[in-house]
Amino acid sequence: MKNIYHSDIYKFDTPVSSYWEDTSSENLNLEKLSKDINSEVVVIGGGYTGLLCAINLIEKHNLDVILVEAGKVGWGASSRNAGFNCLPPSKMSFKKMQSIFGKEETKRFFKNSVEGSNYTKDIIKEYNIDCDITGDSNYVVAHHKNKFEQIKEQATTYKSEFGIETEIYSKEEFNEVGHGGTEQFGAFSYKPGFAINPLKFVNGIAKYALSKKLKIFEQTKVNQINKENGSYILKTKEGSIKSKKIVVATNGFYQEGLIPQMDGRVLPVISNIIVTRKLSEDEINSHNFKTFSPIANTKNLLYYYRKLPDNRILFGTRGDLTGSDQSNLEMSKKMEKFLKKIFPNWSNVTIDYNWRGLIALSQKLTPSIGKIDNEEIYYGFGYNGVGVSAAPWTGKHLSKLVFSSNSKNLDISRIYKGLPKKFIFPQLRTFYFRLAVWFYAIKDKLNI
Ligand SMILES: Cc1cc2nc3c(=O)[nH]c(=O)nc-3n(C[C@H](O)[C@H](O)[C@H](O)COP(=O)(O)OP(=O)(O)OC[C@H]3O[C@@H](n4cnc5c(N)ncnc54)[C@H](O)[C@@H]3O)c2cc1C
Repeated sequence: MKNIYHSDIYKFDTPVSSYWEDTSSENLNLEKLSKDINSEVVVIGGGYTGLLCAINLIEKHNLDVILVEAGKVGWGASSRNAGFNCLPPSKMSFKKMQSIFGKEETKRFFKNSVEGSNYTKDIIKEYNIDCDITGDSNYVVAHHKNKFEQIKEQATTYKSEFGIETEIYSKEEFNEVGHGGTEQFGAFSYKPGFAINPLKFVNGIAKYALSKKLKIFEQTKVNQINKENGSYILKTKEGSIKSKKIVVATNGFYQEGLIPQMDGRVLPVISNIIVTRKLSEDEINSHNFKTFSPIANTKNLLYYYRKLPDNRILFGTRGDLTGSDQSNLEMSKKMEKFLKKIFPNWSNVTIDYNWRGLIALSQKLTPSIGKIDNEEIYYGFGYNGVGVSAAPWTGKHLSKLVFSSNSKNLDISRIYKGLPKKFIFPQLRTFYFRLAVWFYAIKDKLNI
């Protein structure tokens, strides 16, 4: 299988040393597959999508399911994201969506996005997961005065068209409830939304899945899939699985060559995070950083940040471009400068953690849920960095599709359905992405 980035980012056997690893004590330590076995359904990928698909297949449809994960459970983005339960899972503006799909379908897409956010909230409660919930909404901050009108319009449309609860704050008002700093020119909030510890969340889901007798194999990477007499044979290093149906839940960590029909369609993009040391009350107050809700700003290459329960600041943005450990380090230094530019009173604050992971984009700019034609292979991916709300919900809906084998039965917006187009010359995907980054960096410099 081919990797799109440097091999450093695909070290499946090494946990990523994140703030979450240091604040979660759980280690499930599950066995790896070491013999040949059979199952009705195999799920590839132990993140939110794969786990929720497997749980729903067992609970609602009573199927025999096995889940295989190349690293430990949640090793991918599900254990190392920023923990924002935000929406929508799309890189397409709502205006563009309305012009392509019409107002009704766009409404349905947003309705499904809100359902996703609520589903995440529901499973935290139902599975009894203690994942350090903070905040009660999401904020979008205008990073320049030119952007305030834009967010006002966004807030108004969210409310009038999609029934989402929003509130607009002037710069002064947001300084009272949110934060100050050099790139705060007003904001709007929307609900539902909150923040979590993503590793505690994914471990909690996995524990629930185990209690429902899901068989999970960790450190078990599928290297090859063959077809024999109508069954699939999934080859791993030390054993194989014979199965009638496959669910691909690998999102940004999909490796080219596993399934020919999926190759060249995913654009994995690196997202990096840094976390500061604990800030004193005085330091927090020096920027009036009041809120514990998740915040994203209006840059095209957006910054996302939040105050953690122990008064550290988590700060993320689009990541390095090669995937090597060295480029991660260099990116974290750049990000420290970005953070200190918008919060200059924290110029002496040191950074305790940096890490990154892969999100999945595609030419659709919206998620993809479906079944590969003439095969019993199902997929759910492409959340555009908004998987905390979208991925569990996708897993649930994917399970219905796997059970019925019929995508027409899936009662969700058609914007989610089907594979994205293949990239022209897919080997140039990262080059196209670099061009996009340069283009958006210029737009951000000009504040347009
Ligand atoms: C740095 C960062 C910050 C983010 N912040 C947020 C945020 O704040 N809010 C939000 O909503 N979203 C965020 N996201 C995105 C979110 O984490 C993802 O959309 C979500 O976790 C996707 O879940 P998943 O289960 O589909 O994929 P993943 O969690 O990535 O899981 C895929 C799994 O597949 C496994 N795998 C791959 N190939 C194979 C194979 N051949 N055999 C076996 N297993 C395999 C991988 O090891 C991996 O564990 C962020 C992502 C990153 C990287």
